Amino acid sequence: MRAEIVAVGTELLLGQIVNTNAQFLSEELAKLGIDVHYQTVVGDNRKRLEHVIRHANGRADVIILSGGLGPTDDDLTRDVVSEVTGVPLVMHPPSLSRLKDFFERRGRSMTENNRKQALVFKGGTVFPNENGTAPGLAVEANACHYVLLPGPPRELKPMFRKHVIPYFRRLLPSEEVVHSRVLRFFGIGESQLETDIMDLIHCQDNPTIAPLAKEGEVTLRLTAKAASVAEAEALIERPEKEIRRRVGQYLYGTGDVTLAEVVVKRLTALRKTVALAESCTGGLVANMITSVPGSSEAFLGGYVCYSGKAKRKWLGIPASVLEEHGTVSEQTARWLAEKSRARISSDYGIGVTGVAGPDRVEDKPVGLVYVGLASPGKETVVKPLQLTGLRETIQVRAAKHALHLLYQHLI
Ligand code: ATP
Ligand code: MG
Repeated sequence: MRAEIVAVGTELLLGQIVNTNAQFLSEELAKLGIDVHYQTVVGDNRKRLEHVIRHANGRADVIILSGGLGPTDDDLTRDVVSEVTGVPLVMHPPSLSRLKDFFERRGRSMTENNRKQALVFKGGTVFPNENGTAPGLAVEANACHYVLLPGPPRELKPMFRKHVIPYFRRLLPSEEVVHSRVLRFFGIGESQLETDIMDLIHCQDNPTIAPLAKEGEVTLRLTAKAASVAEAEALIERPEKEIRRRVGQYLYGTGDVTLAEVVVKRLTALRKTVALAESCTGGLVANMITSVPGSSEAFLGGYVCYSGKAKRKWLGIPASVLEEHGTVSEQTARWLAEKSRARISSDYGIGVTGVAGPDRVEDKPVGLVYVGLASPGKETVVKPLQLTGLRETIQVRAAKHALHLLYQHLI
């Protein structure tokens, strides 16, 4: 099945909103094994919308339209699809009474133009909208499935998950499942990873192996099509083993996990604790750790010591160290790690200092970061990094490097 996603809305073309619906839909369709060949964006304009739909009809088996189902004059999607397919719209009493209820519960009166939201395709499918007014619609015509969804993501997403996925499942050949497994890597670049497993990527088609780089991490998605999940997993097993053999030292998790999660899990299992002293990351490491539920077992606390004064006052780092080596230095990172550990009495201490940019600091280049790790019974280690990207990217990467340094130590 080939799909095309058509996002309708002039706001999208003006750059006032981002087309997150297309991203969501593409991701979901990939999981279902439906190939998305095109994403289109078109304004709230009858002629151009009609043109886009006719064009999509020639190259897709499924056309998913988002937006333009509301009550106002610029909401045209339902009308235009009806025109192009020749399938008339009819009043749908259950949707109409849902609409009436919706307004009644809010103590508002329903205006006449709202009635049009209860118009559905004759002989088509209706997806109830549990978070808004306009129901979603589907209709088959001209050898193509048209699926119309409301624009607001908080309406579209739950509707898709609850109603549209089962709708597509019924259309797909029933004996096939599409199953994926995601491997997560840190500390290796995308191009290096790809080079190391290039032959596997090229010679595999079931499972397919797709690399993706995001926020300093690389993931590999292995996707298999088979008669059952168990069979798909069996297909994935062999290439996964080979991948682990080659680049396993960079692998930190599978599926939906974060570096912070694996660190917290590991610390908790070992009954160990960590404290932080963060300079250039401004508390980001602490934020990543505390976004993991239950992290209080492992995380005792941290300092955001952004200034030299805070580093001296809170952590007792001698002024001479800061003056002689600079606040961005191996020595400072070492002090931050050791002092946070000592002051908070944790098992591990992490220190992060660096230049997040955009300007140089102490004549040191943007992206130069030191992460230090103080551990019980071991020498403190300091890892120098030269990171790239804008300020925020450098901060995120530095924070992840700090977590990863601890993770490597814990395994
Ligand atoms: P409504 O009943 O709210 O008018 P609608 O189905 O007519 O819904 P639109 O009018 O096209 O949808 O868009 C309503 C809102 O939904 C937009 O203002 C925007 O906030 C959001 N939205 C629309 N399309 C997208 C998209 N492709 N990606 C993300 N958000 C979107
Ligand atoms: Mg609208």
